[in-house]
Amino acid sequence: MILPLRETALFLDVDGTLLEIQDQPDAVISDQRLTDLLTELQTRSGGALALVSGRPIEEIDRIFAPRVFCAAGGHGVELRLPDGVQETHPTRLPESTVGLLHAGLEDYPGTFLERKSHGLALHYRANPQAREAVHELANSALADLTRLGEQFELLSGKMVFELVPHDVNKGGAINRLMQHPVFAGRTPVFVGDDVTDEYGFKAVNALGGQTLKVGVAGSATAARQHLEDVDAVHRWLRGLLDPAA
Ligand SMILES: [Mg+2]
Repeated sequence: MILPLRETALFLDVDGTLLEIQDQPDAVISDQRLTDLLTELQTRSGGALALVSGRPIEEIDRIFAPRVFCAAGGHGVELRLPDGVQETHPTRLPESTVGLLHAGLEDYPGTFLERKSHGLALHYRANPQAREAVHELANSALADLTRLGEQFELLSGKMVFELVPHDVNKGGAINRLMQHPVFAGRTPVFVGDDVTDEYGFKAVNALGGQTLKVGVAGSATAARQHLEDVDAVHRWLRGLLDPAA
């Protein structure tokens, strides 16, 4: 099924989808042909195209310079809307919660609190025995945030617990962009290749859109269609410009 571009909201992951993954992320750069293709799609869709990446927007801009696209960076921490307005995720991180964690971690030497642009990380790498205590502390901070009306999620990583806004992921980013008049009312399409893209696939499926996973067929995914590799993505995108071909 090929959707008319005028009725489509096109959301595209960058690394591994539009561009091959490189050993050095800094080495990734678009070529003129791809940048022209995206520009044409953006124009023909009436501006309803956004790049949805884990990279900060600054990095996305470096890759496609001098072109600047509508984008979600940092899995949705930052958004650049079609009109160029940039916004960061509205979640508030109350100082009382931060203070509570700082004070709590003081009892466990080697642990520390890292403040991120979109949340908090409680590290215990230098004191693995403190894991349970740090976990308990993170849970009480989560309860504190919930009580204050902020929706966070507690994630467990390697020697770290993270408190992140519940919708800072590619699905949340797409849902927020879909509220913008340029995207609203259209059928969303999302193309991605990675585990973090699964949030985007689920969100777009829920909106009745089209989801395409890049890579070897058969891997577990919520996406309903499949594209073999980056070249196949480029061919598929070109097909949107020329549905008759
Ligand atoms: Mg990717």
